[in-house]
Amino acid sequence: MTQSNDVAERAATVLLHRPAGLLTDIDGTISRVTAPPEAATVEPAARAALARLATVLDVVAVVSGRSAADARRLVAVPELVYIGNHGLERWHGGQVTASPEAMRFRDRMARVAAQMRATVTLAGVRVEDKDLTLSIHYRETTDPASAEELVRAALVPVATAEGLVVRPGRMVFEVRPPITVNKGTAARDLIQERGLRSVVFVGDDVTDLDAMSEIQRLAIEQGLHALTVGVVGPETPSEIAQQADVTVDGVDGVIAFLTALADRLA
Ligand SMILES: [Mg+2]
Repeated sequence: MTQSNDVAERAATVLLHRPAGLLTDIDGTISRVTAPPEAATVEPAARAALARLATVLDVVAVVSGRSAADARRLVAVPELVYIGNHGLERWHGGQVTASPEAMRFRDRMARVAAQMRATVTLAGVRVEDKDLTLSIHYRETTDPASAEELVRAALVPVATAEGLVVRPGRMVFEVRPPITVNKGTAARDLIQERGLRSVVFVGDDVTDLDAMSEIQRLAIEQGLHALTVGVVGPETPSEIAQQADVTVDGVDGVIAFLTALADRLA
């Protein structure tokens, strides 16, 4: 894929500025979106490319809406940093650390999960309890458009009453604690902690826009060398291609990009 090769060439140039990091989303980026989400697998070629990149870059991190432990299980490259629950927790070297602020909302989160399980009985709607956050999936319903409205109507009043925040994603609603932690703050924290001078970020969904815009802000304000890569497929929100510096075509495009990048750097 020429497009992926061109993007790899640009990324390799950006990453010459050390220390250098690569941050990637999982679902829809290095893993095809599946129903149910537990059935998702990371493409072996993506795993191999990330493992090679981890040997040459200063940090390779996964930033996902999944729990950090689930992200670690799915990607299964021990050298990576796993940032889970959109930045609320992190797995590194066998240790999970969670945001103490987010921990305070676990009981409320559990109550919303229980209430959603009790009230939304539409076939195909699934409540995934990720401890610090919740995901309400409607991908497996027969009519996702009407399921979206039904779930929204049931969820928003309940979550709001508990002081929690609801954010829509691809065939999913995410419920989060009302604290400003997202993929953008997670990316910024990692960049600052590691003193990174360059970053490449890859993502496909609206929650990835936080990371893209934060990285672009750091590029303008602090001279971070950066490239944001949007993954464009049939379900991609249009904002991704608008926000990202460059795009690749679907999971296959990401794999071709990561492989070409590893070939250039390793
Ligand atoms: Mg994704």
